[in-house]
Amino acid sequence: SLKSRRGLPQKRKIRDVEKVIAVSSAKGGVGKSTVAVNLALSFARRGIRTGLLDTDIFGPSVPTLLNLSGEPRLDENNCLIPLTNYGLKSMSMGYLLPQTQTDTQTGEVPMDTTPISWRGLMVTKAMHQLLHSVSWGPLDVLVLDLPPGTGDVQLTINQEVIIDGSVIVTTPQDIALRDAVRGFGMFQRMDVPVLGMVRNMAYFACPNCGHQTKIFSHGDGDGSNHSCEDRGVVAECKRLGVDFLGDIPLDARVCEDADRGMPTVVAEESAERSARREAFLGVA
Ligand code: ADP
Repeated sequence: SLKSRRGLPQKRKIRDVEKVIAVSSAKGGVGKSTVAVNLALSFARRGIRTGLLDTDIFGPSVPTLLNLSGEPRLDENNCLIPLTNYGLKSMSMGYLLPQTQTDTQTGEVPMDTTPISWRGLMVTKAMHQLLHSVSWGPLDVLVLDLPPGTGDVQLTINQEVIIDGSVIVTTPQDIALRDAVRGFGMFQRMDVPVLGMVRNMAYFACPNCGHQTKIFSHGDGDGSNHSCEDRGVVAECKRLGVDFLGDIPLDARVCEDADRGMPTVVAEESAERSARREAFLGVA
């Protein structure tokens, strides 16, 4: 039985999946999904069998990021068959939800009139299906794009599946960083090892002159006025004993790549390829 003695569902491994890495952020809009999708694609491009599971039920962004849509088919065990692009298998609530039709006349999106209690039930069911009824096939790594925040949904996911490690995405802004520290606390309580923190939108690199501007103050001894509480990401990682995984610049191309459904990891690769081909043709 999957129920433990206290009636709580028992944690289990996702079938056929070797390791689960959760990408999280304590608040929305810091680039969590962007990091999750590019991380998963980097694994896939290194020949690691990878899947990406979008558990953000209310704001699934993986369909757009991977330029995928359409309802997944079911296999003989009634498990959802993942949709694949760029060699990456993926599953998202976005594939299961009926596409919201925007009124072309008024531009208004119709309001969801489903009662909240019913919605709660559907969310729990949907989450369960996403976690346990996807036929991934053998995977080395499954990247979980967690919903933003440090609340019940994250706890529920952790109660249902074994998460082997987590990556916390933050921006240099103090408020985001303080939230990230809260996220660290959450994973500690959940007994999930934190693999490290990524500082997204760390600086703006001018495409014309290459000059780097720190849009948000960093607090890592950059001379800005900070109170003692305000530490930068690097200092905070040191304090918590967490690896600082690196900076990602604020770059318009990251946003453009996301919008056209070709994440930067893939876009850069194809740009490099065509540059090589042009150079080759130029020589030939
Ligand atoms: P989250 O998952 O944390 O809500 P997203 O990954 O959806 O955040 O990113 C929010 C928005 O910011 C998206 O439009 C995305 O394209 C953009 N974005 C994320 N990271 C960067 C970056 N490094 N440079 C430019 N735009 C970015």
